[in-house]
Amino acid sequence: MSSYDGSTTGGATTTRSVSADVVVVGAGTSGCYAAATVAQAGYDVVIVERKDEHEAGHIACGDALKGASDFPEAIPKSQLEPAFTNTGVDHGRFEIPQEDTVLEIPVPGELAVIDRWEYGRCLIEGAERAGVEFHYDTVVQNVRQDENGRVTGVTGIRKGDPVTYDAEMVIDAAGALSILQDKTDLEDASFDTNVQYSQFCSAYREIIEVDEPVEWDDALVFKPTERSAGYLWYFPRTDTEINAGLGFQMNEEPMELVDSLKRDLDRREEFDGAKVTDKLGAALPTRRPYDSAVAPGFMAVGDAAGHVNPTTGGGIAGAAYAGTYAAEQAIEAIEDGRTGEEAALWEYNVNVMDHFGSRYAALDVYNIFTTAYDIDDLMALLAAMPGEKLAEALYGGSTSIGLGLKLKMAVNSVGHWGTIYDLYQTKQLADRLLDHYEQYPDDRAGFEQWQRERDAIMDDIYEVTGAEPKY
Ligand SMILES: Cc1cc2nc3c(=O)[nH]c(=O)nc-3n(C[C@H](O)[C@H](O)[C@H](O)COP(=O)(O)OP(=O)(O)OC[C@H]3O[C@@H](n4cnc5c(N)ncnc54)[C@H](O)[C@@H]3O)c2cc1C
Repeated sequence: MSSYDGSTTGGATTTRSVSADVVVVGAGTSGCYAAATVAQAGYDVVIVERKDEHEAGHIACGDALKGASDFPEAIPKSQLEPAFTNTGVDHGRFEIPQEDTVLEIPVPGELAVIDRWEYGRCLIEGAERAGVEFHYDTVVQNVRQDENGRVTGVTGIRKGDPVTYDAEMVIDAAGALSILQDKTDLEDASFDTNVQYSQFCSAYREIIEVDEPVEWDDALVFKPTERSAGYLWYFPRTDTEINAGLGFQMNEEPMELVDSLKRDLDRREEFDGAKVTDKLGAALPTRRPYDSAVAPGFMAVGDAAGHVNPTTGGGIAGAAYAGTYAAEQAIEAIEDGRTGEEAALWEYNVNVMDHFGSRYAALDVYNIFTTAYDIDDLMALLAAMPGEKLAEALYGGSTSIGLGLKLKMAVNSVGHWGTIYDLYQTKQLADRLLDHYEQYPDDRAGFEQWQRERDAIMDDIYEVTGAEPKY
């Protein structure tokens, strides 16, 4: 249990003070996995969450879970399974109206569609079972740092009263555009502060109930939005309950998300007479992962560190693993008595890059590519691409296309060869970037040099794609 140090009263307000080994801000996927891992190792950990107990876990999401077979141990899959409402999805269905084409594409690995709120509750229960203490209704407003810049805790407001938390380690799991990073002086740390709104996607979704079962309840349906650098989705929670949503990259002209979704819903017969039961919107990072997500006494995980596949917007798996890796290194740092960024914490960056960060950085190159091209050109290209190669490119960050397939693509896509050539060159650069990320430095000493070399590759990427630099 965390210790309650007492309260000080000044006038009518009372400041409550809490001490724990680790304080985690945010009760989402990354926060619950981080805190459960810390608790299972026998340390005191508190999750501070701004929502109330009922609303916690209710998060804007498409509800699609990629890699549904594979969750870190701290909250095992068996505890989350009650929220898996559709485990029969096995492929992507890409609708390309411009080309009058529908591509049915296998998606590698296990897929599921979930009831996201129920999943959020299962996560919280899993973390509670591991020994995590939850403080709901508590909005973190500031970060405490000592005279050397080490983060020592956070401050916030709980139901109108100020509250102070002291900790050996603070884990920022507060999601996209986390306020903690605005409030922390990170100037002397390796922590990535090169974060702008244009690296995010603005997204919105509705839960829709229909009377008649949809025919595509075994597929994740994707469709281009009216402009490039975005997509519309229809993900079947069941054959009569659909998560429908869309998003766009925020370096583009703002899109009227609610109206665009409505227009598409109105065009589709299967949604005649449909009932909307829930609506939510949020931002998510569609960028490369943070170059470094550590500072003395501080780590960021999940959306707060850009741990999202930037081409699909899938962030649940990255959040679960990032939370776990951060907690493991936080424990090691506390046991070593060295919570600076040089020692145990750096290993967290290495583990993230090693598992998924390098792949996501390479995938971001395709995201950059799409911001620079005309939607019709891209859709024609998509329609010409062999499905399984597309799936590899979407999820793997790289794909190899043999001569026969290249010829088939070329024949199918007459009129778009210029774009194909640019895509080919972009792919070479994405592969170069992936190689570079695979050499992410094992310690802090090689970091600046590694960043300089990476930036040089990015310069080439912007030159080839003609895209507006976003970093
Ligand atoms: C519309 C949309 C659709 C998506 N679809 C999918 C999908 O289909 N599949 C997929 O895998 N991913 C999807 N994602 C991404 C996925 O939802 C996120 O990557 C994932 O939820 C990240 O988890 P997290 O724990 O890092 O952050 P979050 O789940 O956002 O959790 C952050 C928590 O921190 C709390 N918090 C924030 N600020 C404070 C504060 N100051 N004080 C206290 N608490 C605070 C919040 O209330 C929240 O509970 C989607 C995202 C959006 C927006």
